Amino acid sequence: MTFHVLTIFPEFFRGPFEHGVVGKAAEAGLIHIQIHNLRDWTSDRHRTVDDRPFGGGEGMLFKPEPLFLAVESIWPLRRPGQKVILLSAQGKLFNQEVARRLSAEEELLLIAGRYEGVDERVAEHLVDEELSIGDYVLSGGELAAAVIVDAVARLRSGVLGNQDSTRWESFSSEEHGLSMLDCPQYTRPAEFRGWTVPEVLLNGNHAEIRRWRAQAACDKTARNRPDLLRNEITQG
Ligand code: SAH
Repeated sequence: MTFHVLTIFPEFFRGPFEHGVVGKAAEAGLIHIQIHNLRDWTSDRHRTVDDRPFGGGEGMLFKPEPLFLAVESIWPLRRPGQKVILLSAQGKLFNQEVARRLSAEEELLLIAGRYEGVDERVAEHLVDEELSIGDYVLSGGELAAAVIVDAVARLRSGVLGNQDSTRWESFSSEEHGLSMLDCPQYTRPAEFRGWTVPEVLLNGNHAEIRRWRAQAACDKTARNRPDLLRNEITQG
């Protein structure tokens, strides 16, 4: 799978994509990441990508032309498996279900906005989806793009050592028809500063451990994310 990122700060991605699971997957050729500098598609001396908003208001917006030219030159003949995503606080919420859906695509091109955002014709006529990573405003789409690449890449086959680990993690236990958090986990030592790990995890009784984990995941979901349980009830 290939990820393209279109940004005015290409150097930004040196860090996030060189470490851990994503870095290793790229090195092994399981995923490909191409960072494009939006200014390469400008034609004036100052390589201008932004302009003032019509109707007045604060700040500057990305002009449409460099973005359209960039996408049209990266994919001169855009195929259905090549999806363009605009990172935007006004987008639909990105979550694990969206990550799963996107992980089936051939190529993604992520557009990172800056300043006050992007001329709306980009959302209307260039991109397949507008995605937000949460209900807060970032100063740029680069961090959001890195979040999406990370969450999608780790779902591709071969990227994680143990493919089973994505089946049971938070937001993924669709087998039960419930969106749940992962259960609490403990490692050694069994006693740390007087706090002991739950006895059941030490006794090797796998049926009991499974039951304890299901209950603990449920309790933690109810405590930290009751909205997930309510969603299921209203949908179901
Ligand atoms: N004026 C806009 C915010 C612009 S922030 C508004 O109020 O909606 C500048 C850029 O940061 C955006 O173009 C977008 O690419 C990125 N960004 C900000 N918040 C984001 C979020 N929650 N998810 C994804 N991208 C975001």
